[in-house]
Amino acid sequence: MSVRCGIGYDLHRLAEGRKLIVGGIELPFEKGPVGHSDGDVLAHALCDALLGAAGLGDIGTHFPDTDAKWKGANSLLFLEHAKKLLDEKHFTIEHVDAVVILEKPKLGPHFPRMREALGRALGVSTEKIHLKAKTNEGVDAVGRGEAVACHVIATLRQR
Ligand SMILES: [Zn+2]
Repeated sequence: MSVRCGIGYDLHRLAEGRKLIVGGIELPFEKGPVGHSDGDVLAHALCDALLGAAGLGDIGTHFPDTDAKWKGANSLLFLEHAKKLLDEKHFTIEHVDAVVILEKPKLGPHFPRMREALGRALGVSTEKIHLKAKTNEGVDAVGRGEAVACHVIATLRQR
């Protein structure tokens, strides 16, 4: 058995008139991520962390943003697909740790629903998914509320 870790990072610009989707959940806010899909930074960074740990490339390889099929897509679909790829290679998800960096709104109160949605998409229990939130202390694009970013580390075990 071997244990492997993967890292994922994502950032999306925020604009008015877009839904704010983070971790598969829609949050009430006046701005949302600009992106080809629903722009879910947490799902995208998580997907990259899983694919990286399994040595399976990255989200752009599997879901190119040039493909009309993924326009406006619910990013939980990417996680469901990544999970299938992991299963094929006999990887199980041991743990996921994430930091979402967003100036506003507060994410903490929504973590239970996000963990549930992510856990469901990946077929793992919610205690394997750990979420943290930071602001960017008012500096740079994230701090000015112009963007949302996310870092994720995923740990896999191969049978
Ligand atoms: Zn993204």
